[in-house]
Amino acid sequence: MMNRYLKKLTAILLILLFIPSAAPGEEDAAPAPTPAAVYTTVLRTGSRGDEVVQLQLRLNELGYDPGSADGIFGKGTKAAVQEFQKRNGLKADGEAGQQTLEKLYSDTAAAMPAPRTVNVLAGDLPMLVNKSHPVDEFLVPADLVLLNDVLDSKLVKVKYKDTKAVRQVAEALNDMLEAAKADGVTKWQISTAYRSFAQQEKTLNNKISNYMNQHSGWSRAKARNAALRTVAQPGRSEHQLGLAVDINVPGASSFSGTKQCKWLHAHCWEYGFIVRYTEEKKDITGFDAEAWHIRYVGTEHALRIRELGMCLEEYLDGIEDGTIELPGEPDPDETEAAESEITEADTEIEEIMLDE
Ligand SMILES: [Zn+2]
Repeated sequence: MMNRYLKKLTAILLILLFIPSAAPGEEDAAPAPTPAAVYTTVLRTGSRGDEVVQLQLRLNELGYDPGSADGIFGKGTKAAVQEFQKRNGLKADGEAGQQTLEKLYSDTAAAMPAPRTVNVLAGDLPMLVNKSHPVDEFLVPADLVLLNDVLDSKLVKVKYKDTKAVRQVAEALNDMLEAAKADGVTKWQISTAYRSFAQQEKTLNNKISNYMNQHSGWSRAKARNAALRTVAQPGRSEHQLGLAVDINVPGASSFSGTKQCKWLHAHCWEYGFIVRYTEEKKDITGFDAEAWHIRYVGTEHALRIRELGMCLEEYLDGIEDGTIELPGEPDPDETEAAESEITEADTEIEEIMLDE
């Protein structure tokens, strides 16, 4: 008997004990404070699964570019995680552990700033980008087009099909290559035109790695210095403006000395391009001669720069200090004459009105 009562009592006590703990599931229960999330898994190169999908979706939502949300943590995801870490004051190791994931899913996660589209041909003067005149990583030129959409494939081979340039530049290039063909000079290749800030960073890093592979005793600093003689730092390349084009001969080991190079250096000016880096000006431009690199500045500036035998830096300095007149700027005497004509015309109108 006693045993049965005891069992019942225990059962009642147990029910009473468990009632309060059943409360959180009920609708009228007060919300419990959310504890900081704990992420036990470190997501890194090679990780797969739903957690990686979530990570990729969140990175994408914040403006980073991990590639498609395929649940595979590859190179693209790693680069996006590193970018996120850099912008959020975290160690940029490309591995998403507790600290990174906590920040990523929080309200204070810093997003990737949006790119800023700039009309790079808007000013009276050609835009200068060099080692001492950098542009920021968010500048993207307006009116970029795929070269293959503008260039006649019979005139030129575009080495990489996703190569872009500013439309006006692509059109000038096509006109120039048509003229070359008329002169019997064919077989051209475009190897680079627009390069984003991120692509420039990659190009520089590749060049540094190449030097280090070729010269076993070189330090990274030494390889970097050598690389910077021909590859600009990100933000310091005019390829980021979409106005520079690297043009050469498909399959040829060197461009200098080819008939295409001779034709280009004699005629590119007429189509608005300048040979940007020459041997004579390397102390001013800071770059070794690059026979293949042409820069669009528009025909008026290009012809004037050729006439003066200057590099772009000297030309812009000359305009700034007043020793060079802007091309197309009206002669001061002519301006006066034009103004007096207007006054005369105005007077005539007044006279006519009075007559009536
Ligand atoms: Zn170039």
